[in-house]
Amino acid sequence: MRIARVLFNGSPVWATIVGEDVYRLNDVYGAQERRERLGRLSDLRLLAPAEPKKVICIGLNYALHAAESGKTIPTEPLMFFKPPTALINPGDDITWPIGTNRIDSEAELAVVIRRKAKLIQPDTWREYVLGYTCGNDVSARDWQDADGQWTRAKGFDTSLPLGPWLQTDVDPDNLRIRGYLNGKVRQDSTTADLGHKTGKLVAFVSRFFTLEPGDILMTGTPANPGPMEDGTEYTVEVEGIGRLTNRMRRPQSYFS
Ligand code: MG
Repeated sequence: MRIARVLFNGSPVWATIVGEDVYRLNDVYGAQERRERLGRLSDLRLLAPAEPKKVICIGLNYALHAAESGKTIPTEPLMFFKPPTALINPGDDITWPIGTNRIDSEAELAVVIRRKAKLIQPDTWREYVLGYTCGNDVSARDWQDADGQWTRAKGFDTSLPLGPWLQTDVDPDNLRIRGYLNGKVRQDSTTADLGHKTGKLVAFVSRFFTLEPGDILMTGTPANPGPMEDGTEYTVEVEGIGRLTNRMRRPQSYFS
């Protein structure tokens, strides 16, 4: 099933996409009952398909990306947070934050949580997943190196584009994942190369943090994430899910 959040009569609505048609979806975290038709997909604005209370991200989880950072995949998954205020919709602009010199886009497979969970047994993790989507872990590289931790570098406003929708029935361990800078391929890998696999990550993070419906897990980026400039566009594409595109915008001035 394909699950989306769309703007309908000015309000966010959970929906399911069937072909080109969009239907209201009642009780998205529960029975998921299909209701009335809302319209055609091309006529509706897509919103980020999650309402997180927290966003847990994994760093250095593809061997080639870890190597280009001068590191190896950590024995235990390396976790960091983004605040929910970092989230933006498909097509929204990424805003260049004040004072950084370099912003990179990172194509990632994202997981959205369906049910409240703590201490998930490794073989039951699928029960807790609402679906999979594309995410962009937008990162200020100079701050990432200089700050000693990644709060500002990876948590600033607009640093988490997510979408275009959730796909429920893909195998997260075998999906081609690509990132395009202005339409040209920069990143090209597969989630088969993830060091710590998606299911293991869902169970692992639930040892430490109670997962809640709508929470997001970002699984890490493959090699060669791309630097962005004012006006450039980055597209994250995950096989079987879709494409997420956002443009970088550098404000003329920050204070009015
Ligand atoms: Mg990342």
